[in-house]
Amino acid sequence: MFLANMGHELRTPLNAILGCAELLREEATAAGLGQLLPDIQTVDRSGRHLVAVIEDILDLARLEAGVPQLRREPVALAPLAEEMEAAVRPQLRNRPLRWRLALEPGLGDITTDATKLRQILLNLLSNAIKFTARGEIELAVRVAHEGDREFIAFRVADTGIGIAADKLSLLFRDFSQVHDARHSYGGTGLGLAISRRFARLLGGDILVDSELGHGSRFTLLLPRGPQGMS
Ligand code: ADP
Repeated sequence: MFLANMGHELRTPLNAILGCAELLREEATAAGLGQLLPDIQTVDRSGRHLVAVIEDILDLARLEAGVPQLRREPVALAPLAEEMEAAVRPQLRNRPLRWRLALEPGLGDITTDATKLRQILLNLLSNAIKFTARGEIELAVRVAHEGDREFIAFRVADTGIGIAADKLSLLFRDFSQVHDARHSYGGTGLGLAISRRFARLLGGDILVDSELGHGSRFTLLLPRGPQGMS
């Protein structure tokens, strides 16, 4: 109840602020007051950042309060991957980053909580883009087997700043950011902690390997069927 109320109390005025920023942008453009646009954009960007932080903190608090209700629905994998590509395309614009989508033919469906799956993938992809100045971002989806169980492996690979071997174990802790705080990349340090919790609730996990200065590979492994979901 507290979480639902707080979420509402925080989001309602923020949405009003974002709505007004959008109106101001239109009015400033129509009135030929282009010099105001950078300030309006700052209001918009900061507001959106705050929405993302609030969503993360609420997600974490919901997870601490108990296991969330998970949905079990079939999701077609190739269209999902293409949807992810469309979602991150704006973040790639005007950056020296190539995008690659590598889909094993005949991937079929996965039965899982589609919203949680999308949230995990978007988090991994946004991190890959955030921590990569140039080079390539790849989303590869393939089928993997462990014993007689079938998994889907979603691998997000980047050619970015990478992560030192002795920091890898810290990545999934709440609020942990493993790069020098003086170089601000933004973020809350909650994305991976939440993503791994979700992945485990869905019966899977997130694995990482990385090389400092060369790039990182995060792999989300999820069972194809709903067995193993909490
Ligand atoms: P946030 O990105 O909001 O700080 P995350 O939990 O998503 O939080 O990530 C935690 C930290 O892990 C990041 O601050 C960064 O130091 C490191 N990290 C995550 N993804 C990558 C990546 N693709 N390349 C390099 N470092 C990463």
